[in-house]
Amino acid sequence: MRGISREVLARDAAWSLADGSCKDLTVEWARWEATYAASPTAAARQAALTRPAAVCGACPIASECADLAELSGYTGIAAGQGYRNGRPDHARRRHPKQRRTA
Ligand code: SF4
Repeated sequence: MRGISREVLARDAAWSLADGSCKDLTVEWARWEATYAASPTAAARQAALTRPAAVCGACPIASECADLAELSGYTGIAAGQGYRNGRPDHARRRHPKQRRTA
């Protein structure tokens, strides 16, 4: 995409978010993101995504939302999945120095 900066793409994507299915769910979204961020396991994070993912599943701009999450380095829930610094969070791994205890 030569000639189009990441900032322009992000700005265009941000404009379209006003049409998102979550536009009236600010309080719930903040609570869902806090629950997601505090979830200690992959299973808990997946469970925390259930309700926001259902909203995103019906959203007409989910693709633009995912683009914006990546371009802006977003951390939170967008387009039905968790993001950490603009990358999908499903690859979060145990720290290499952590040892399995069970
Ligand atoms: S995809 Fe999800 S987070 Fe993104 S605008 Fe739509 S409802 Fe909101």
